[in-house]
Amino acid sequence: MDCLFCKIINREIPADIVYEDDQMLAFNDIDPKAPTHQLIVPKRHIATLNDIEEDDLALIGRLQFTAAKLAREAGFAEDGYRVVMNCNEQGGQTVYHIHMHLMGGRRFTWPAG
Ligand code: AMP
Ligand code: ZN
Repeated sequence: MDCLFCKIINREIPADIVYEDDQMLAFNDIDPKAPTHQLIVPKRHIATLNDIEEDDLALIGRLQFTAAKLAREAGFAEDGYRVVMNCNEQGGQTVYHIHMHLMGGRRFTWPAG
């Protein structure tokens, strides 16, 4: 499949991997927008948030659960952090394999741009 994140999951292209389990992979964003900027991706290819099905609900919960675990490991869980999932063109999605951005280590403003 011609999907950048599937290729990272399959080790066809390199990434700076920070976490892996049977369902998830997390790696550092190549163009970080914060001192810590990790991407958490389910290993199963789902193109956009619109494609999540009833059977995926546990997987999506695990995605958020993994973000909180990585935030604790990075040391900013208590200070606070930002998670973002972009959907489709107007939402700013550029890679069509769902992923959660985990950003921490600085103060974030609201609303997001
Ligand atoms: P989004 O715009 O929400 O689809 O996020 C895609 C993210 O993937 C962006 O923050 C990119 O910087 C990041 N990205 C693109 N290519 C790579 C790569 N090869 N390794 C790590 N991160 C990447
Ligand atoms: Zn994929």
